[in-house]
Amino acid sequence: MSWEAVIGLEIHVQLRTETKMFCRCPNRYGDPPNTNVCAVCLAHPGMLPVANRVAVDQALRVGLALGCRIPARSKWDRKNYFYPDSPKAYQISQYDEPLCAEGSFTGVRITRAHLEEDAAKTIHIGGGDGRIAGSGASIVDFNRCGTPLLEIVTEPDLRGGAEARRFLTLLRATIVATGASDCDLEKGSLRVDANVSVRRSGDEELGVKCELKNMNSFRFIERGIAAEIRRQAALLEAGEPVLQATLHYDPASDSLSVLRTKEEADDYRYFAEPDLVPVEPSPAHLEALAAALPELPLVRMDRLRAAHGLPDATAESLALTPGLADYFEELAALAGDARAAANWVMGEFSAHLNASGSDPHASTVTPARLAGLIALVAEGAVSSTGAKQVFAAMIDDPADAAALTERLGLGQVGDTDALGAIVDEVLAASPAEVAAYRGGKVQLIGFFTGQVMKASGGRADPKAVQSLLRERLGG
Ligand code: ADP
Ligand code: ZN
Ligand code: MG
Repeated sequence: MSWEAVIGLEIHVQLRTETKMFCRCPNRYGDPPNTNVCAVCLAHPGMLPVANRVAVDQALRVGLALGCRIPARSKWDRKNYFYPDSPKAYQISQYDEPLCAEGSFTGVRITRAHLEEDAAKTIHIGGGDGRIAGSGASIVDFNRCGTPLLEIVTEPDLRGGAEARRFLTLLRATIVATGASDCDLEKGSLRVDANVSVRRSGDEELGVKCELKNMNSFRFIERGIAAEIRRQAALLEAGEPVLQATLHYDPASDSLSVLRTKEEADDYRYFAEPDLVPVEPSPAHLEALAAALPELPLVRMDRLRAAHGLPDATAESLALTPGLADYFEELAALAGDARAAANWVMGEFSAHLNASGSDPHASTVTPARLAGLIALVAEGAVSSTGAKQVFAAMIDDPADAAALTERLGLGQVGDTDALGAIVDEVLAASPAEVAAYRGGKVQLIGFFTGQVMKASGGRADPKAVQSLLRERLGG
């Protein structure tokens, strides 16, 4: 039997604002606990919320970037639940009239994106469950309580863990580009719940879904979804039903555990928030927000492909790292060779950044210096192997590519006499291989080329070496 996985995502994004969603407390991560609080976000009686205009704009930027329809009016609702992380015992959210309606992103339909306030952070300390004195407890930090949160919901259009991961990677880069959030999984400013079901291939009807809660890395999300698909497929294969549940994925053991079942699902008793007016963004305001958006990653990806002839994977990877893409575009313009520029940026230059942890424009190897090296390779003044050594030297030495090539003695041995002498030496030292080559083992050309490159200290031009070898070997 062949099965098809169906995945829909619910993504929470903490918006970047100076202040909280409905009060003027700072919206700041990492401050001492319970220092950014006031009577509004602590729900003292009689306090009234006022919606943060900047948060609404940030949310609208994301909605526009995801191709959402922005209704002329959206409203606020109360989502009722009791938990110590919510002093009002309800969360202000949006239920039936969200800020952003249907959209589409990388072919995945966006159901909606609505604004709400985040809950406080509960921290469980000590052992035990806190019910017995001294056995541990839960403490609450209200700094996060009332900070602006955007919930993005997708239609069940994804078909596997890897696809979900790619979608999330592009989504995150897009939201970061709008400036609405830093989308830092480690700080919790991006949190993802994945709804997973499995159905018979070809079936129209959706299977029963389970929800994987709050996974905090894209790699674990991919693996958690894959594990859940395997679990459900095995159940269905055995003729057993999938029971709707909320699950926790433990990456260490690659296993899933049940947090709660459908019977325990909450009933939030949503009702309209009487203390806030509806949000009614004007068409002119929406136009201004849209016009001020920067070039978004998907657009840049297409442009990098079209303008520089980059392969899909290279264009996508560059579009996801704007700093590196900027560097590439500068380098390509200076070097006049996009292919060589892409090879250097994706290869040696990225490795150097990974090793040094620096950002592209802080590197000592500026686009101008690297363009100089690319020019030397193009002239044949240094081999591509030698150029890698020059590049490594450039990192700690401000001299230009030509001076370094000279100093390192990597100037290419291009003249046929000098190279011919090295080729003769190599062939004389390997009579058995020469005989084998002449007997038909022509792939030994690679071996000979390698020997000559080595003997020349990487200074020979591999093309010239091969043609000399063929000449001498009579191939
Ligand atoms: P609920 O009522 O349980 O909250 P929703 O219909 O609101 O479910 O959908 C919540 C999320 O779950 C959405 O991202 C949606 O695409 C996804 N989803 C809904 N049904 C399924 C299903 N059968 N399989 C996978 N994902 C689903
Ligand atoms: Zn406050
Ligand atoms: Mg729902």
